[in-house]
Amino acid sequence: MAHTLSCRCEKTQWQVDEKAKGSQVVCYCRDCQAHLTHLGRADLLHDGGTYLYQTTPDAVKITKGVENLAAQRLGPQGMIRYYTTCCHSPVVNTLKNRALPFVGLPLPDQDKRFGRVICYAHTDQGTSGRKQKGFAAAGMGIMIRALSAIISGRRASPFFTDSGDPLVTPRVLTLEERRAATPNR
Ligand SMILES: [Zn+2]
Ligand SMILES: [Zn+2]
Repeated sequence: MAHTLSCRCEKTQWQVDEKAKGSQVVCYCRDCQAHLTHLGRADLLHDGGTYLYQTTPDAVKITKGVENLAAQRLGPQGMIRYYTTCCHSPVVNTLKNRALPFVGLPLPDQDKRFGRVICYAHTDQGTSGRKQKGFAAAGMGIMIRALSAIISGRRASPFFTDSGDPLVTPRVLTLEERRAATPNR
């Protein structure tokens, strides 16, 4: 069984294995905010925070509309952030290569299917007034899940080709675009 996620217009769908290990977090960092703002989807921010489900890439399958995937990076070294061209919905954030099996799946809102929120990260960059919480535990969870995936040979990722390139070539935002989308707090 799997949990289904979809873009706003539902032309693109992806699934997460319900047995996968992962954590739900809220990230208030400027980069997550800039990504959604540049996409025109600041409506998905909650006091500047993005709900994310962090898991390993082998747990994710694109089940519909793979041709709608595009990707952006906020800078030449930044994460690869996939989104849909059909309705500019965020899909997944990955690292720039497959070495560390990690994905963060942006969620429109808190999603009980993925358990409670264990971490509020970079809260000083948002407007919720919350204190940062659970950051070390979330980081440790990422490392433990990644190691476990590596050790057990679960290296598949729907977001990289067999040769290790990103599934679609990400576009790097210009400095001006990045500045315009980044909150100045
Ligand atoms: Zn769509
Ligand atoms: Zn972030």
